Amino acid sequence: MLSEANASRNSNNEILHCIQNDKKGNIELLKADFHIHSKYSMDSQNEPEDIVKRCQELGINCVAIADHNAVEGAFKMKEIAPFKVIVAEEVLTHSGEVMGMFLKKHIASGIPLEEAIAKIKEQGGLVSIPHPFAPLRGLRLNEDEMAKLAPQIDIIEVFNARCPYIQPNNKANEFAGEHNLPGTAGSDAHTLGEIGNVFVEMPDFNSPQEFLEALRKAKIEGKYSGLFVHFHSTWAKIQKGF
Ligand SMILES: [Zn+2]
Repeated sequence: MLSEANASRNSNNEILHCIQNDKKGNIELLKADFHIHSKYSMDSQNEPEDIVKRCQELGINCVAIADHNAVEGAFKMKEIAPFKVIVAEEVLTHSGEVMGMFLKKHIASGIPLEEAIAKIKEQGGLVSIPHPFAPLRGLRLNEDEMAKLAPQIDIIEVFNARCPYIQPNNKANEFAGEHNLPGTAGSDAHTLGEIGNVFVEMPDFNSPQEFLEALRKAKIEGKYSGLFVHFHSTWAKIQKGF
């Protein structure tokens, strides 16, 4: 995987530099999609086995399965996938969706946002906001409310491939930068063909804390209208030294 990644990304000096300097000895460069749905979401038919197969075809070796209001698919994937799987869930709250990552158990939907955040944290999970500024799917909070929420957030999804245009993602990226939050990215795939429409290249990690650190070194590549664009998260831009 490493040589394959290097071959295709051999102009990416920063990533190579990052691999050589990984203090933990994890030398594999992860190619990750942190927002995939399985058939355990009511609006997807993706079988876990087929997700694994598709990821392997694409060289994706780390995923977050983030079903709507369900974690069964993520746990099933964890059992069968020969690569890293983060158990996540998109919880529908009174203010819109919040994503818990590194979850141990299901969180019921239809609760206040603050309660969902507390339930994610009490099980050692990380709080991510998926597509925060996407029309209809984003959080229904004004700017002040978003700013107040920021200290409770661990991660902002700065690139969601289902956003039909780049503006909501750019806004999410700006928000992440302003509040010093690491950015993640995902295809939000509800069908197999969407998997990998955006992917994150980053160092390996072994815990939620390391995940946050690794994200700050991430590079994101995503697809809009059939064209691949290089999307550098704010952190990748300002962390000149990595
Ligand atoms: Zn989703």
